[in-house]
Amino acid sequence: MQFITSWDDGRKTDLRIAAMLEKYGLTGTFYVSPPETNEKPALSTNEILEIASRHTIGAHSMTHPRLTRIPIDQAKREIEESKQWIEGITGKECNTFCYPAGDFNDQTKKLVKEAGFVEARTVEQLEFKSADYFASPTTLQVYPFPFRKRWTRWWHYIDPLVRLRVFLPRMIALRLPPKAYASWAELAKSLYRYAQKTNQPFFHLWGHSWEIEKYGMWEELEEFLRFVESNNEVIPIII
Ligand SMILES: [Zn+2]
Repeated sequence: MQFITSWDDGRKTDLRIAAMLEKYGLTGTFYVSPPETNEKPALSTNEILEIASRHTIGAHSMTHPRLTRIPIDQAKREIEESKQWIEGITGKECNTFCYPAGDFNDQTKKLVKEAGFVEARTVEQLEFKSADYFASPTTLQVYPFPFRKRWTRWWHYIDPLVRLRVFLPRMIALRLPPKAYASWAELAKSLYRYAQKTNQPFFHLWGHSWEIEKYGMWEELEEFLRFVESNNEVIPIII
């Protein structure tokens, strides 16, 4: 089984992710967009280069739009220019793309393929294999579970367990143990054990470092990475 990690948006806090991965002998793909796309402090060109020396840098568009909601020629530019922008910084070929907000359709997939990428990641979770390299799902996002830690939208007052509710049918189908429902780290470990036991192709962990900071999840993330490192069967790879 491959242990894959990926981190979106290219914020300063990605440096902490990179250091933590290295501490546990792991690698990641960092999907970065140019600095102007977000109010949170972005990685500088030098910092992207520094991460690129030990990890993979992927493209994430130029301005982080929902690619299915903008004109096709604009989407084409977002995709093509993001590849060139990264290659201009790293001097290496950039062959992986991540759809901003996980938003894509057949047309977007085609544009990504035509731009010369060999794969694209979505935000789909609780999966362990990919049927389509241009719509690769993930296993788990680093995100508060089962409760929200902070109310960020009005509807969160009404449905604080939204993530558990969405995950529940799949968690039951995977026959995860009761403790998987207790915390994010326990869910991650249970999914990992499931993937190993059933010999799945991959476990793909992803997240936003700015969100880990916002929700105070650094310790939970480290607990899981320590668990992964202590597991001898893992072969870390760079995608
Ligand atoms: Zn993003």
